[in-house]
Amino acid sequence: MRYDIVIIGGAIVGSSVAYYLREEGFSGSIALIERDPQFAHAATTLSMASIRQQFSIPENIRLSQFTLNLFRRLKETFGIDADIGFREGGYLILAGEAGLPILKANHEAQIAEGADILLEDADQLAKRFSWLSTEGISAGAFGRTGEGWFDAHAMLTLFRKALRDRQIDFIAADVTGIERQVNRVTSVSLDNGERLEAGIVVNATGPNAGKVAGLAGLALPVEPRKRNVFVFEAREKYADMPLLVDPSGIYVRPEGSVYLTGGAEPEEGDGPADPRDFDVDWPLFEDVIWPVLATRIPAFEAIKPTRAWAGHYDYNTLDQNAVIGPHPEVGNFIFANGFSGHGLQQAPAVGKALAELLVHGGYRTVDCSAFGYERVAEGRAFRELNVI
Ligand SMILES: Cc1cc2nc3c(=O)[nH]c(=O)nc-3n(C[C@H](O)[C@H](O)[C@H](O)COP(=O)(O)OP(=O)(O)OC[C@H]3O[C@@H](n4cnc5c(N)ncnc54)[C@H](O)[C@@H]3O)c2cc1C
Repeated sequence: MRYDIVIIGGAIVGSSVAYYLREEGFSGSIALIERDPQFAHAATTLSMASIRQQFSIPENIRLSQFTLNLFRRLKETFGIDADIGFREGGYLILAGEAGLPILKANHEAQIAEGADILLEDADQLAKRFSWLSTEGISAGAFGRTGEGWFDAHAMLTLFRKALRDRQIDFIAADVTGIERQVNRVTSVSLDNGERLEAGIVVNATGPNAGKVAGLAGLALPVEPRKRNVFVFEAREKYADMPLLVDPSGIYVRPEGSVYLTGGAEPEEGDGPADPRDFDVDWPLFEDVIWPVLATRIPAFEAIKPTRAWAGHYDYNTLDQNAVIGPHPEVGNFIFANGFSGHGLQQAPAVGKALAELLVHGGYRTVDCSAFGYERVAEGRAFRELNVI
C-alpha cells in the first residue's frame, strides 16, 4: 500500500495536520496512524487544556491567536453543534522582584502582537482580586480577553469527526520502523507486519517524537517529561478567578465547581519519564503545591485533593519550543513536535501552517520558519521564556 502522506500520531496535532491538508485542497492519499485510538495516554487528553497569549516569543503568540480566532468562529467552521466549552477566564502571571524585568519584556512583546494583557502592580491586583495575597509580588500580567480554558476531548473529537468525510485512512497500529534511503524516507513499518510506502511522513507523536524520529535515524531532542495535575475542592468559589501562575511555577484554575492545580515539577533537570509511567506523585500536592496555594490564596488553607492524573509533556530539551517543518536533508520527513506544554493550543495553527507548506510550498498564515529543525542541527536555542 502507498500513501502520499503518512501522519504518525492521530491526536490533536496529527488530526489537525490531516484536517488542514484537506482544507488547503490536498487531494492525495493520507493515512493517519494511531497506536492508542482511545487516546488514553495522549498528552492531548491529559492536558490542562488552556490557551494564552502570554508567551515571550511573537511566533508563539501568533500561533495561539490563530487558535483563539478558530475558537471564536467554531460554529462557522465545524457546524452549529460545535462546542468545546471555551471559558475566556484569562491568565494571571505573577512576578516577584526577580521576575519583574522578564514579565515586563514579555508584556511588551504581547502588546506589540495586539494581545489584551494588562500589567498591574501589587496594589492594583489586590483591588481587582479580593481573594489574592500579594505577599512577595511586584506585578502581574492579566489576560483580560483572549485567554482561558476549554475541553480538550471535545476539541479532539471535533477535528476527528471533521476528518470522517474527508477521505483519510485511519489505521490503528504502532509504527515500529521507518525506512530511509539516504535523504528520503520511503516507508513505515507497523507492528502488525504491514509496510506502507510513503511520499511524505509527518511526525505527530507527541512525547514519543524523539523515539519516532530515531526510527528514521534522525536526532530530535524531544522526550516525555511527567507532569501531575491535581483536582481539589474548596468551600469558596471565585467566579472571577483566572488561571493563576505563582512565581514558584505552581498554577491553579477553576474547572466548574472544582479547581485544577499543578506545576510542582522543576522546569528543567527533572529528566525523561519512563513512557509507561502515569502514576500520580501524590506527595507533590502536600509538600509543594498546597503550601504555595495557601499563601497565595489564604482561603485555600483548607482544601482537599479529590483526584489527580499524570501525563507527559512533549519536552524539547534544547529550548522548550516546537520543532516545525521538514528535516533540512531528509526533506520528506516533517516535524510537528516538542511543544513542551503548549501544544494543544498551537495544534490548529501548526496544522494549518504545515498544510500550507506541503500544499503551497510556503507558510502563509503564520510563518513557522523560526521553529525549523535547522536550529536543532546547529544547537541554537530559540527559547520560550514563559513555559508553564
Ligand atoms: C499535564 C499536561 C498539561 C498540559 N497543559 C496544556 C495546556 O494547558 N495548554 C496547551 O496548549 N498544552 C498543554 N499541554 C501540552 C499538550 O497537551 C501537548 O503539547 C499536545 O497535546 C501535543 O499534541 P500531540 O498530538 O503532538 O501529542 P499527543 O496528544 O501525545 O499525541 C501523540 C499521539 O501519537 C501516538 N503515537 C506515538 N507514537 C506512535 C507510534 N510509534 N505509532 C503510532 N502512534 C504513535 C500516541 O499514541 C498519541 O496518541 C499539556 C500537557 C500535559 C501532559
